[in-house]
Parts: sequence; C-alpha cells; structure tokens
Amino acid sequence: MFDNLSDRLGGVFEKLRGRGALKEQDVRDAMREVRIALLEADVALPVVRRFIDDVTEKAVGQSVLRSVTPGQQVVKIVNDALVEMLGGTDVPGLDLNAAPPVVIMMVGLQGSGKTTSTAKLGKLLKEKQGKKVLMASLDVNRPAAQEQLKVLGEQVGVATLPIVAGQMPTDIAARALASAKLQAVDVLLLDTAGRLHVDAQLMDEMKAVAATTSPRETLLVVDSLTGQDAVNVAQSFAGEVDLTGVILTRMDGDARGGAALSMRHVTGKPIKFAGVGEKLDALEVFNPGRVAGRILGMGDVVSLVEKAAAAVEAEDAEKMAARMAKGQFDMNDLRTQLRQMQKMGGLGMLAGMLPGMKKAKAAMDASGMSDRTLLRMDAIIGSMTPKEREKPDLLNAKRKIRIAKGAGVQVQDINKLIKMHQEMERAMKQIKKMGGLKGLAAMFG
Ligand code: GDP
Ligand code: MG
Repeated sequence: MFDNLSDRLGGVFEKLRGRGALKEQDVRDAMREVRIALLEADVALPVVRRFIDDVTEKAVGQSVLRSVTPGQQVVKIVNDALVEMLGGTDVPGLDLNAAPPVVIMMVGLQGSGKTTSTAKLGKLLKEKQGKKVLMASLDVNRPAAQEQLKVLGEQVGVATLPIVAGQMPTDIAARALASAKLQAVDVLLLDTAGRLHVDAQLMDEMKAVAATTSPRETLLVVDSLTGQDAVNVAQSFAGEVDLTGVILTRMDGDARGGAALSMRHVTGKPIKFAGVGEKLDALEVFNPGRVAGRILGMGDVVSLVEKAAAAVEAEDAEKMAARMAKGQFDMNDLRTQLRQMQKMGGLGMLAGMLPGMKKAKAAMDASGMSDRTLLRMDAIIGSMTPKEREKPDLLNAKRKIRIAKGAGVQVQDINKLIKMHQEMERAMKQIKKMGGLKGLAAMFG
C-alpha cells in the first residue's frame, strides 16, 4: 500500500498531529515499519531487535517539535540512531600512536578484499599522511598471493618485502618487522592469508603473527555484499583476535549496507574505511551518515530527514539568536554559522549577495580561506569534546594535538579556528553592548 518508509510512518503518525509527546503505542506502530525497512536492507535479526528497542526507548516521551510532523520526527530519530550505531559523526582514524614501525594487520576471509585494501591503505598513508610504508604478504596458501601484493605495491609506489620462498607466515612477519626497523619505516602493513571458511588453523596462524609483531591495529576486512554471512565471519574473528576496526569492502555494489550495521553491533569496533571500487584510490573514510541513508533506502526519506533537520535547525537558530543577544558565542554556535554559510552556497555566494561582502571575501581569499576551509573547520569542531565546544578556553596544547589528529589537520589550523572564534565572540559582545540585535537593527534600519 505504501511504498516507502516516510509514507508508512506518515500514516501511522497522522493521528498524532498536534499532540504533545510521542506515545509508546504510536512509536511501537512506527517501529514495525522501521523493522521491515531494516530487514529489507539485510540487517541481521538480533541487531534489528536491539536497534528497535533502543530507538523506541529514545523516542517515547520526546516532545513533538512544532515545525515537523511526528512521522518526520521519528524518521529523524531513526536516522540519528542509525548514524550513532554506525559509529556516530566522529569516526576514529587509524591509531598510529606507537613507536614506529607501527604494525597494522589485515585479517579476513579469502576474497574479502584484504590484499587490495592493504595496497589502498598503503597508498593513502603514503600520499595523505606522508608516511613511509612497507607492505608484506603472509599468504603462503595461494601461490600468487605474495606476487599480487608486490604488483599492487609497484602500482601505488609503496615498498613490499622481498619474497623468500618456503617461509612460514610468522617467519615472514618477523623478517618484515626487522626490515621495517632497519629502514626506519613508519607503518608496516601485514596482509595475512584468508580461507574460504573460518577454521582453527587460520586463527592459530593469525594469533602467532600477532604475538610476533604486536599490531597496533588489527583490521577485519569484510565484503559488504555477503550480508548476513558477514556477521558470522565477524563474530568468529572477534572471538579470536583483538580487532581494533573494520574495513567494509564493495560498498560500491548494490547492497544497502545492512552488513555495516550488523558489523558494528557484533564486533563493537568502529568501521574505519569503506572500499568503494577496484581502483587503488577507491578507499574512503567510513561515512555513517551516508550509510544510514542507504539503509533507510529511499532518497525521499533522506531528503525528508534533511528537511526535518532543517526545521530543527530553525529552532536552533532561534535559540542562538537568544544566546547572541546575551553575548554568548561558543564553538557550537560557530559550527552552526559555518554550516549555514555552506548551505547558502559557500563564500562565493555570500560575496555575490551582499555588496559590502566583496571586500570581506577578498580579505578571506587573501588569507587562504576557501569553501574547503569551512568544511575543515567543521571537522575540527567535530573532533572536540562537548566540553571543549562549550568552553574553548580549555583548548591547551595537548588538546589541540589530539584534535588535530582526529580531524586530520595541523595544529596551526586549530589556532586559526580559535582566532576566528575569538573574533566572532568579540563581535557578539559588541552587539550586546549596542543593545543586542534590536539595537543593531535600529542602527541600520
Ligand atoms: P583477498 O583474498 O581478501 O586478499 O581479496 P583481494 O584483495 O584479492 O580482492 C578480491 C577481489 O575483490 C579483487 O578482484 C578486488 O579487485 C576486488 N575488490 C576488493 N575491494 C573491492 C571494493 O571495494 N570494490 C570492488 N568493486 N571490488 C573490490
Ligand atoms: Mg589476498
């Protein structure tokens, strides 16, 4: 009867219009539809159950926003819960905080994309982070496996450990580690053997390699197209080795991404990267928001969620105006401003709109400010803790270093942001002195 989640939810919630809070029975009715959407996206059943319980608990009793329908609001709650369950908005990067060579071990079944992902990661670390990388294949089961990594290494310009015939995986691992130390390598990537099924020998081999090399990261590589099976694989690996993260490959396929949700739930570990193609630059930092949209499955639901979010933002803007009138302006406020600028079409748009802005835009250009800067600033604020956002004074050198790592920027970028915040905060205080926004309006009106 209804062909998408928003229509289904709209039907359920039609009767709720104008009431004060989301009631348990109404939410439960809506969750039946959400459950179907999740199962259609190939999310594992236990994960669906858990998710529904969590969201129901969150949704019941929430007051209905004036500006959206209850159906829209539930879609937004579901979307936000999906994003949260997929890892939230701050996906942790690779942990390279150890004495070099930092070892990253790739594990997973045969054909999951381990070797390809190893080469992709090697390229990314070298080109984006300027790391000196060495890659070694420990796959002695398949004759051509070590050769495959060598060829990929040549394609991405990353060194591979010379192949010595007849060595056991732990011997190769030890040799790789020694060689990495000798050559002052920053990151050593170990591509381990996989089998078609999880078995004891595979696990023992992995554990022995881990014991030899103490990997900082042990990344499970799983094929997102395998859907439910991926969950069993993840469970077996998580029970045997200390996984630190997951790489989901073949996200360029037509799977809705249900595997991602299950993966996160079963391993409890963050999905750090997504493979999005066969090419060696087709590796992306995992994006929970995009995958949540895919799981909900329908473009119009996502745009609906965005509309709902925009409405929520409108309420935020009212709140912000009230804060500004009091001369308050923290990093959260700055972020809201940055996002509004982006929505309005970025800096260029701003200059075109307001005559007086031409000069300001020229000054921004001169200081190297661009639309990319807006995104970067947003990412920096995203890497701050809620406390730091409210009290930017907390940002000491140590915290700045942590945030820079999290956002993938330099400390000087953080300093620029802090300076910008301080200037805007000062402006807000000025406005307050002049009698708040009303006073300002009177001056210009
Ligand atoms: P391994 O056995 O786990 O080492 O798997 P491989 O790295 O050899 O990959 C198996 C196949 O999957 C290769 O043909 C890869 O090109 C392909 N592959 C790996 N990752 C992706 C991905 O993200 N998207 C697509 N479309 N293909 C991938
Ligand atoms: Mg391989």
